[in-house]
Amino acid sequence: MKILFFSFPPGLRRAAAGILLLAALVAGGGWLWYAHRFAVWRAMAIYSVPTRERVVALTFDLSWGHNTPGPVLEVLKDYGLRVTFFLSGPWVKIHPEIARRIAADGHEIGSHGYRHVNLSRLSPEAIRLEIMKAHRNILEVTGRAPRLLRTPNGDYDQKVVRVAEELGYRVIMWDTDSLDWKNPGVERIVSRVLKKAHPGDIILMHASDTCKQTAQALPLVIEGLQRQGYRIVTVSELLALQEAPRPAPLRRDQEQKGWRERPLPDA
Ligand SMILES: [Zn+2]
Repeated sequence: MKILFFSFPPGLRRAAAGILLLAALVAGGGWLWYAHRFAVWRAMAIYSVPTRERVVALTFDLSWGHNTPGPVLEVLKDYGLRVTFFLSGPWVKIHPEIARRIAADGHEIGSHGYRHVNLSRLSPEAIRLEIMKAHRNILEVTGRAPRLLRTPNGDYDQKVVRVAEELGYRVIMWDTDSLDWKNPGVERIVSRVLKKAHPGDIILMHASDTCKQTAQALPLVIEGLQRQGYRIVTVSELLALQEAPRPAPLRRDQEQKGWRERPLPDA
């Protein structure tokens, strides 16, 4: 092949190279069109966003209690930050005043589902019910229609993502788990986040009462990230920065295995 190619006169060789380049461009463009048209890369959960910008999204799951959210909100206000909260439907109904404060403070509101159960075990119809019950709760109380879903326990499969996307949701995971849900100590939380954060990262924290060290760790996390040159934004703001669509393999976060927030009764 190589010998054949170089046996051509230079003019023909240039023409051949040009044709090859054109073919590559057409194929690449065709793939992009196909991926966009059929939403190929969207049929999966999002762990981070490909960008070179030093920007990260800070996220808080919240499905239990009323003691931790206040101090977390105070810290965020002190630093003038707007982040993303994933609220569970029943929690929003039990603590409407806190949910409304989260909205009033300008934070982005996502859904943490209804019951704190693994959605991958349920039928598509049952998954749809879980998502829609939480959706109605959050909309009723905060006036906001969530479009982002952090599934309970970070559990999902293709079926869960497909149902969520049919309902207009994007499934949001994380690259950096602060492990604040293990109450490992303020220093461990802070050093872990600062070591693992990267451009386009989604960082997982919690504002549920089971997490006793989050509010104390938060100022150090924020200051550390800012020292590293990071801007802290909401998940939607991060998604808007996406430079190029890129498929990523489905993956479950092993660290989430066995983790349960206190389950709430099915109201
Ligand atoms: Zn949770």
